[in-house]
Amino acid sequence: MNSFHFKIAPGISEIKPYVTGKAKSTLEREFNLHDSIKLASNENPLGMSKFATEALKNEISEAARYPDGDSFALRQKIMQRHSVTSDQIIIGNGSNDVLDMIAKVFLYPSRETIFSQHSFAVYHLSSLSAGATLRISKAKNYGNDLDEMLTLINKNTGVIWIANPNNPTGTWLKKTNLYNFLKLVPKNIIVVIDEAYFEYVENVEYPDSSLWLNEFSNLIVTRSFSKAFGLAALRIGYGLSSPQISDLLNRVRQPFNSNSFAQAAAIAALEDTEFIRKSIEINHDGLAQLEEGFKKLGLNFIPSVGNFLTVKIGEKLSEVDSSLQQKGIIVRPVENYGLSGFLRVSVGLERENARFLKTLETAL
Ligand SMILES: *Cc1c(COP(=O)(O)O)cnc(C)c1O
Repeated sequence: MNSFHFKIAPGISEIKPYVTGKAKSTLEREFNLHDSIKLASNENPLGMSKFATEALKNEISEAARYPDGDSFALRQKIMQRHSVTSDQIIIGNGSNDVLDMIAKVFLYPSRETIFSQHSFAVYHLSSLSAGATLRISKAKNYGNDLDEMLTLINKNTGVIWIANPNNPTGTWLKKTNLYNFLKLVPKNIIVVIDEAYFEYVENVEYPDSSLWLNEFSNLIVTRSFSKAFGLAALRIGYGLSSPQISDLLNRVRQPFNSNSFAQAAAIAALEDTEFIRKSIEINHDGLAQLEEGFKKLGLNFIPSVGNFLTVKIGEKLSEVDSSLQQKGIIVRPVENYGLSGFLRVSVGLERENARFLKTLETAL
């Protein structure tokens, strides 16, 4: 593999490129289909808010101009949503961009980083790009094991990554557990709490960790517009932290990392509370529909509070996946997350979930 003579940054050769959900157009070309459905990337099956569509149209006339590099208006909007000052907000080209900035600032060769088995792929990718050493903590019931994570902390630890809820397992951490964990982590270690699926979680014991920012100067919370807000293609998300951390992240942020369409649509999407309410409701019902379907088929699944469900298919997984694809259904096998024999399906509209379950039954 190393037959060329370039010197490359440490960590890069260990990276396996991120595998995205197959695009509908790709599948339709492969199998000559016209009515495929994609339940593979945890997108909003309702699409996006009409407010956002309008905002995008209005923005077109300004496309020749660079966007506002400071995302002033969007940060104002986010300030209102969280009790933070504008210097505590960093806007990213998707929250992935924020995660990458965090790795760039706080990780480098000789630094260690901690995350759980079966956790989001970007923690691997960004940490390896920065040349850091990975300390992967064993999962407990497929989710983050906070006690186990604490045992991996040492003087070289730079960043701990926790998705709440976690993707691809849909598991989540309770308020008291996460709070007590934060109390125990030394203040010179960054803790990232990735809340990409925040809007979907209805349990009263689920924490909004942005409320702890004043108490924990080492905390960074990330949020996304790609899931409940339905703006995945626009690539926009944000991070909340102390002004000191935000200032550091801002130094490595690309000058125009978020575009004007994304900024305008995000502002509009935040105003459409009715759309979010409906998205949550459809997701709630869809989760129940999928759970019931899996139970009928005798399949075990990991209980999820996200907008997706991970189900155990077993040895027939790749067969089942390809027969789903031939019938125009794209889901995501998650073997690359250490979940061998498991399939993750995003919650779709009622008829999409029904078609998936019916096709799955045949495929099995
Ligand atoms: C989908 C997802 C994100 C969102 O990424 P964006 O870059 O905002 O699209 C972040 N974290 C996790 C765990 C996710 O599953």
